Amino acid sequence: MTKKVCVIGGGIGGLAVAIGLHQQGVDVEVVERDKDWKVYHVGIIVQANFVRALHQLGVGDQAVAAGHPHKGVRFLAAQGRLLAELPGETEVDGLPADLGLTRPALHEVLTAKVKELGIPVRLGVSFESFEDKGDAVEVKFTDGSSGSYDLLVGADGNYSAVRKVLWPDAKPEFTGQGVWRYNVPKPAGLEWTEMYVGAENGFHGKAGYCPLTPDSMYIFAVIEEPGNPRFAPKTLAEEMRKRLEGYGGTMAEAAAQVIDPDLVVYRPLEACIMPDPWYQGRVVLIGDAAHSATPHLGQGAAMAVEDAVVLAEEISTREDIDAALRAFMNRRFERAKLVGTSSIMLGEWEMHPENAGDPVEVTERIRKTLAEPV
Ligand SMILES: Cc1cc2nc3c(=O)[nH]c(=O)nc-3n(C[C@H](O)[C@H](O)[C@H](O)COP(=O)(O)OP(=O)(O)OC[C@H]3O[C@@H](n4cnc5c(N)ncnc54)[C@H](O)[C@@H]3O)c2cc1C
Repeated sequence: MTKKVCVIGGGIGGLAVAIGLHQQGVDVEVVERDKDWKVYHVGIIVQANFVRALHQLGVGDQAVAAGHPHKGVRFLAAQGRLLAELPGETEVDGLPADLGLTRPALHEVLTAKVKELGIPVRLGVSFESFEDKGDAVEVKFTDGSSGSYDLLVGADGNYSAVRKVLWPDAKPEFTGQGVWRYNVPKPAGLEWTEMYVGAENGFHGKAGYCPLTPDSMYIFAVIEEPGNPRFAPKTLAEEMRKRLEGYGGTMAEAAAQVIDPDLVVYRPLEACIMPDPWYQGRVVLIGDAAHSATPHLGQGAAMAVEDAVVLAEEISTREDIDAALRAFMNRRFERAKLVGTSSIMLGEWEMHPENAGDPVEVTERIRKTLAEPV
């Protein structure tokens, strides 16, 4: 019998799981709270496992075409001296391993596929309540409608309302750092993500940039922000520039171009890594709702899309929902936990360099691990 699934949240994980389920013959629909379906105008860095998972959903080529492939990640000292070079791991069907792309470009790739497949997406709608009846989950929506489903997927991000219903005590915690982001023109010939380890400006953290398109790149600075301060919007460019003072190399020129406070995206880092299982009965969390990490390994999007691919496989190949969700957890939990706990540890090392291990070793080991199929 055809299974029926409702996905709460039309972000990266929600759209990916809808595509995967639809392709496996499951009857799937999506509700998305934001009536305009907008995403931040920021860049995201992704790696081999993200490209492979999108390829499995039939949109790998489109994502690569929408972004800018590059050679991998380099670690530099604050003044720009090369410390280590980690080339991209494992090319999938000739697709590149390391890719930078804008969040709107990725959104366009996923929404175009959802539209092409005819998957219903209701915008400006969320759930009002849901009740697991054992043989089905009954959902009431904020537009007054209701439905009965074999499975409800909470793909509603870091501040998940679905998680709040089932795990009211779980919430994202501030990790001590904030991330500053800004897009600038890309110098010709830049073909790596470059990360400057440490800072010589009184701030604790790191900075770097990633190519996004042939002509643009985005700068990021991950910095300890004691007390989780709020910044007045008009000061954001000045605050970001302060955090980029003293760096050499390409960063010195890039930092000078951070001038428009309206174009700075600042976010305190808040993580929430749920224990196994991420499901109760017929309701399951995926993506940030289940395991939001800090951006230190650039894996948030990849983990959401991998969750989606694996959940779609397990739901469509097993009759029993409970068995499918257990199989999903068996394939996903350790991998997502590795990313989450290692990302938080890298942030701790940046804030406490006196007790730090080797971030290059950790990054290289995890890049290799994640390049292997799930
Ligand atoms: C500024 C920024 C930069 C980032 N950079 C990177 C990067 O470089 N590389 C990387 O891999 N990751 C990056 N991430 C993380 C990455 O974006 C997330 O890990 C990823 O989006 C998780 O996907 P998701 O589907 O779980 O959540 P989201 O993509 O956040 O999607 C959640 C969706 O659910 C909707 N929603 C929320 N609540 C409800 C509700 N109650 N009802 C209905 N809909 C709801 C939201 O509107 C949203 O559309 C970044 C995140 C941010 C904020």
